[in-house]
Order: sequence, then C-alpha cells, then structure tokens
Amino acid sequence: MGFTVESEDTASSARVGHLVTSRGEIPTPAFMPIGTYGAVKTLSPRDLKEIGADVILGNTYHLYLRPGMDVIKDAGGLHKFMAWESPILTDSGGFQIFSLAELRKISDDGVIFTSILDGSEHFLTPELSMEIQLTLGTDIIMAFDECPPGGSDDATLRGAVKRTENWADRCYKFLQGNKGFEELGPHFFPIVQGGVDEELRKQSAETVLPFAQSGIAIGGLAVGEEKEAMFETVVLMNNILPRDKLRYLMGVGKPEDIINAVLRGIDLFDCVIPTRNARNGQFFTWDGKLNIHNSQFNKDFSPISENCSCYTCGTFTRAYLRHLFKLNDVLALHLASLHNVTFYIELMDTIRQKIEKGTFAPWAKDTLLAVSPSDD
Ligand SMILES: [Zn+2]
Repeated sequence: MGFTVESEDTASSARVGHLVTSRGEIPTPAFMPIGTYGAVKTLSPRDLKEIGADVILGNTYHLYLRPGMDVIKDAGGLHKFMAWESPILTDSGGFQIFSLAELRKISDDGVIFTSILDGSEHFLTPELSMEIQLTLGTDIIMAFDECPPGGSDDATLRGAVKRTENWADRCYKFLQGNKGFEELGPHFFPIVQGGVDEELRKQSAETVLPFAQSGIAIGGLAVGEEKEAMFETVVLMNNILPRDKLRYLMGVGKPEDIINAVLRGIDLFDCVIPTRNARNGQFFTWDGKLNIHNSQFNKDFSPISENCSCYTCGTFTRAYLRHLFKLNDVLALHLASLHNVTFYIELMDTIRQKIEKGTFAPWAKDTLLAVSPSDD
C-alpha cells in the first residue's frame, strides 16, 4: 500500500510508477475523470471500465449536500452506491467552498458556508471533512486546506499556508485515531499551498510533508495565475518534494498542460475539461481540438480521430455527430464524453509507454506542437 517509482526519464523529470490501493493499482502518470456527484456525466461505470479508467474523483462538498451522508452510509459507501469498484479519490470540499459557496466565515476552526443548492448553512471543519471522506469510503483522502483565489495578496496567501498546515495536522490526528481509517487503509494526501510565491511554497511544502506517506498534492494552481508562473511553481515543487512520493497537480488540465507537467515530475491529474468540453461539442484529438458545430463537418464522413480506440470513433462520422449536436440529442453528449475521456486515458497510456522507452522528451516536443490549440 504505497507509491513506487518504476522508471525515470533521463531527459526530463518524468517518471512512471504505480500507487497501490485496496481496490487496485493506479499506474502513473494518471488522469482522473471527475464524478462530482458520484457520476461521471453521461458515462456509466461500465463505459469507464471499458475505456480503461483506473481511478475517478468525487467531490466531497457536492456529495455531502446531495444525496447527503445518511444515504451514502446506508448504501454502504460511495463505491456501492454508484457501482464503481475501482479506486476513488475525493477532494476535501475546501476548493468548492472557496470557489462556489457563499462564504459566511473562515476561521481557524473551519468554514461556515451557504449551500449552492438550498441556501442552508453548514460548518465544515478538517475533522468533518475526514469523517465525510471516510463515510464515502474513498481510497485517497485529501487534506482539508484553504485554497485562496489566484492573485491573492501576500497576507491572504500567508494566512492560507498557516491554516493549511494546522488543518493538515488536525486531519492527520483525526485519521490516526479512527478505526475506519485503520481498517479501510486509504491514502491521505496533504496539500501544498502558497500561490506562486517561492518562499511560501517552500514553507508550505516543509510544513505538510511530515503528513505525506505515499503522496502529496499541489493545490492553489490553475486558479487564474499566468501559465508560466504555474509551471515555475511546479518546477520548484519538483526540486523540493521527495522523489518517492506521488505528486498530484490538482485541477490540471488541458492535454498540453498535462504533458508539460509530466515533463516536470507530476504523476496525477484531474480536470473537468474532457467531459465539460465534450458536452459543448469540442473533441480532443492528437491534431488539436475540433469543434463539431463548425459547418465544415456537415458532410465530413470520417471519424473524429482515425487513431482512437473508442466506440464513437469506431462507429460514427463527424457529420452524424454534428447532426446529433444540432438536434440537442443526449446521445451526442454521451458519444462526445466517451471519446474525450478515451483520448485522455490514451494520452496517459502513451505518456507512460514513452517514458518507459526513454523517448518521452522528444515525443512530448512533437506532440505539444500538434495538440496546442490556436484558439486560446
Ligand atoms: Zn474516439
């Protein structure tokens, strides 16, 4: 039950490894499709298994509000409730509270917030976040942290780093004394904060590292800062964090961001982009993004991608998919999600193969040129 690095790229900081959980191994670098409310939108667990997804992410904040912990508890945990037998990572709820909820008050004790669903008031503490994630029965528990928005002032960042440290300590202590934690044996990942400030990042990494057994997350990035500053912080983390711990870059990203982050030593990713963009008619391919609404696809009877193994590409043409999107047929959303998540899973498979063969760096250079979008 831990993380092992199997091979390291000589030309970059990329590495291949695997995280062992009680519900199976997760080969890394890995991407987690997002199942916010215990469902990866439009995809069934059978679809996800066939695509080859090894792990998905669930959102503590959303699941806590709906269906609520009493339902999850009676269902026997999130895996049974949603019929997904492979590993699940849950976030701590912190990020959603800071980005979605109407915040009432942040104190050293925790956060009072108002639900986006019905306006009800809740008080989330590090201890409650751990209790919720244990009830969900997750395989990777994330520490409850304070994630300030990009561009926050120094005092806010400093406060968040201090709170994140104290809260990680409280999370850890709560788990250590908990029978459920000892029996289920999930991983616990602390989170490094500090914005794009070098000193604060170093300080945050130092203070939360003692709580990292198998992995550690880099939070507070991809929140509106410049891309260059984000990667500078990733490089800094790569230099500071121990080689034997899994590094999870939260909320990233586009295919080119993932490749760039793997080059800089990141092992785990999550992002809503493949599923959200799919529902907007945007398909990812090895030649960049394709917007199916464009009139050029009206009579294009070729598949979305010639070299994709998904059911959508093996069966349907661009013209037909465009037709489904014009009709607003729900089938369009399913077929597009199926393709985009397959693309991300195949991207990670390819990345691992290239690292193992020692050809990752040149492959990354070529692929970055091909997939980088011209429209953003
Ligand atoms: Zn496909």
